[in-house]
Parts: sequence; C-alpha cells; structure tokens
Amino acid sequence: MPGAAAHWWLHETLAALDAALRERGGRLLLMQGAEREMLEACIAASGATGVYWNRRYGGEERDGDARLKAGLRERGLTVESFNATLLYEPWTVLNQAGEPFQVFSAWWRACRRAGDPPPPASAPRRWNFQSLPAGLARLASPLDDLGLAPRKPDWAGGLREAWPAGEEAALERLRAFFSDDFEAYASERDAPDLAATSRLSPYLCVGALSARQLYAALRAGQYDGAAGSPGRREASAEKFASELGWREFCYYQRYHYPDLARRNLRPAFDAMPWRRDARGLRAWQRGLTGYPFIDAGMRELWRTGWMHNRVRMVAASFATKHLLLDWRAGEQWFWDTLVDADPASNPANWQWVAGSGIDAAPYFRIFNPVLQGQKFDPSGAYVRKWVPELASLPDRLIHQPWKASAQELEAAGVRLGVDYPHPLVAHEAARERALEAFARTGKAQGKPARLSSA
Ligand SMILES: Cc1cc2nc3c(=O)[nH]c(=O)nc-3n(C[C@H](O)[C@H](O)[C@H](O)COP(=O)(O)OP(=O)(O)OC[C@H]3O[C@@H](n4cnc5c(N)ncnc54)[C@H](O)[C@@H]3O)c2cc1C
Repeated sequence: MPGAAAHWWLHETLAALDAALRERGGRLLLMQGAEREMLEACIAASGATGVYWNRRYGGEERDGDARLKAGLRERGLTVESFNATLLYEPWTVLNQAGEPFQVFSAWWRACRRAGDPPPPASAPRRWNFQSLPAGLARLASPLDDLGLAPRKPDWAGGLREAWPAGEEAALERLRAFFSDDFEAYASERDAPDLAATSRLSPYLCVGALSARQLYAALRAGQYDGAAGSPGRREASAEKFASELGWREFCYYQRYHYPDLARRNLRPAFDAMPWRRDARGLRAWQRGLTGYPFIDAGMRELWRTGWMHNRVRMVAASFATKHLLLDWRAGEQWFWDTLVDADPASNPANWQWVAGSGIDAAPYFRIFNPVLQGQKFDPSGAYVRKWVPELASLPDRLIHQPWKASAQELEAAGVRLGVDYPHPLVAHEAARERALEAFARTGKAQGKPARLSSA
C-alpha cells in the first residue's frame, strides 16, 4: 500500500492523465476491485482479445502477474507485458557466475557494456477513441471514489504548491533542469539550498516520465543549449546517468531480494540491538532533534513530501546511528510522507545508510550532523528556510545553536529549550553508543544472504 503522500500524488497524476486524454477525445477508465475479477469483467464487457500491461518487479507482484498471464493465455487471449520502468531488466545483468552483482560500480559497468537501452516509442500522432461500451462504462469508478486524496483535513496544501502533476509538468521540469544550470549538477548536487538537482523523482516514481525517456534525452544531448562549458555539461550528464543507475540498482535489489523492505540483506544485522525510543522517533519525525540540518530536512519532507538526497542520507544516518532506531521505522516514515516513496529506492537506500544492505555504506561511517551542515549548507540558507526560529543566528552558529552565548541567543531571539530544542543526544556519546552496538553484531560486514533467485 502506498503511503499517504504517495496516494495524494497518484490521485493528482491520474487526474492529469485523464485531462490529457480528454483533450484528445478519450478518457481514463478507473476500476476498483480484485485484479482478476475486474480484468475478467472488463474483457467480457469490451470483447477484448488481448491484454497488455507494464511489468512490476516486487515478488508478490511478479507472482500475481505471472498467474494472471498464464490464466488469460489458457483462455486464448493474447497477453504481453512490457518494461516501462527500467533501463535494463534485472535478470539480464548478472556476474560471470550467473549471480546478481553485489557492487554498484561493477554492475553499472556491466549495464553500460550491454549498450544503451532502446529509446522509448514516441506518442501516437493520431488518436482514435471509440465510444465506450455501456457495460464497460458501468464498471468505472470516479477518481474521487478511490479515496486517494485527503478530504478532512486537507493536509496536502504544501504538496500541491510544490508538485504540479502529469507528464507535461514533468517534461517542463526536465526542460528547465537541462536549460537552467545543468553544468552545475555534478558539482552542486549535494547542496540542499541550491536546488541543483532535477526534482524528477516523484514523476519517475509514478510513471509520468520514464527512465528511458530521461536516458534518451541525455544521449540526444538535450542539455546542449545550456550555458557553461561543454566539459562540465558532459560531467553533469555522466553523473545524472549514474544517478539513474542508482535508481535502477535499487530495482535490481528489489527483484533479486524480494524481502528488501523487511529483512536485513546482511543477516548479521539481525543481531543489532536497535532501541525502542518512541520519544526519539517522534522528535526526529517532527524535525525537533536539536540538530538544525536534520530538522530542516525533516520539515522539508513534512511540508513538501520531498527531501534533498544529501539530507536524506544524514537524517537516515541520524535515525539509525545517533538514535539507534531500526531502519524499518525510518523507512516507514519516509514511505508515508514522501511524494516519491518508492518500493525499491526507499528500502534500498535505508539499508544502504544503515549498513545492512548490499554495497552499503559501512556502519562505522557515522555522519556528524554539524559538519555535514557546515559543509553542504555553509551559509545556513537551507536551515534558515525550514527552521525559521533560528534564522537570525550568525552563520557560525546556525548548525550548532547550543554553542551560542546567552547574548548571541538573545540577539537572535532564540530561547533554547523553548523556541528550539536542545540536542536530543550529544554527537560523540551517540557515536560511541552506535559503534558499541554495532560491535555486538560480530561480523556484520559479511556477505549478503541470497534471498531469492532471479
Ligand atoms: C534514506 C533514503 C531514502 C530514499 N528514498 C527514496 C524514495 O523513496 N524514492 C526515490 O525516488 N528516491 C529515494 N531516495 C533517493 C534520492 O534521495 C532521491 O531519488 C533524490 O533525492 C530525488 O531527487 P532528484 O530527482 O532531484 O534527484 P537527481 O539528483 O536529479 O537524480 C535523478 C534521479 O536519479 C534517481 N536517484 C538519484 N539518487 C538516487 C538514489 N540514491 N537512489 C535511487 N535513485 C536515485 C532518482 O530517480 C532521481 O529522480 C532515497 C535516499 C535515501 C538516502
């Protein structure tokens, strides 16, 4: 089940798709009910002789789709499924032993050796919608009846401001990304205040835009008109392609390890003494940890349904290491609040940060939230935007308000512990505690278990 923010996004995207089809004389038909039953009813009402769909990659999804396919074929229908989500099918890229790759760089090289994925087919030039058989129209549910969008209260205001839905909006964003300051992507993509990344993840996630569309646009050099030097533009294009590669690698993991969202890929992490800390979890969720860089990210997430990648990494590290919360608790919160909540990218990245995943960051790499803030938000602009109660602190203190003197706090209008919390945990002590906990897992850096086969 998608989370609440992703539900809202699906609602908006379906509405935009319906509007685009209506402009061309058609409409989107939505049905709700058990897949098999709805499909059978649809076939009976329309007299369809073929069924076509886009492939899904989760374990249960694949099993269900395979059963559906076999059943329909037995009845003489033509059934075809297509890759609309990925650049490379996960079962086609294996190591020399015929097993899934465990390391991103080797896997990505193998993908590149396989050649460019086929470019996407272009949209039809002529549309020929026929009138809807009455039986089929009767099966349709109005979009509002699906209950995807919040009603009372309508908490989606901030999301609506941030994310215009639909393919046209996605293409507009892509054009802006390629033309604005594309050459800066490679060097500035880690700075959360600079908006140097594409912000296309919500569109990719819901299928309003495909990875193959993006890849083909890169290959066609659609960014060539952007300002700056060709060398820097090429470096940005290479970096952007490899980020699409990371998305792809997450799907690769979801395919080969269907338990990705539930089980540690490194079983040694099963012995990790995660803490049950409802207070800490709540403070983290609300952006009240007392570490401004983390709190800015968590509030950006709550307000817009999105968080910058660098801050996602630091916030996830804080949850799993400083607070020693099970990565699944953080993953669940992201799942519920991200507009781009993705069944592959979300758990794979949480496992990557926690250290329990394949090719993961080593557990002992514990981000210092102050240094991360100072490095990636040196002027404090990002913190000032999302944690306005600290806005008047000088740059030197913006990432560590507890170091301010009483006069400095007064001058900035901050009452620590009243307007903004003291740090929930002290960095050094939390770091020590995390390393001790990690040591208890023994050989936690062991090889990931093979949970399923391709
Ligand atoms: C703890 C954690 C949870 C995450 N959960 C999600 C999630 O649920 N959905 C999601 O789409 N991304 C997730 N990410 C990955 C990443 O943060 C977002 O994809 C990225 O911030 C989207 O912003 P963008 O489109 O501007 O990225 P850009 O830098 O413009 O990158 C282009 C595209 O590449 C892909 N991409 C970039 N980085 C990653 C990555 N590390 N992993 C997978 N794909 C990547 C995305 O599809 C992105 O749209 C998560 C990262 C972390 C650390």
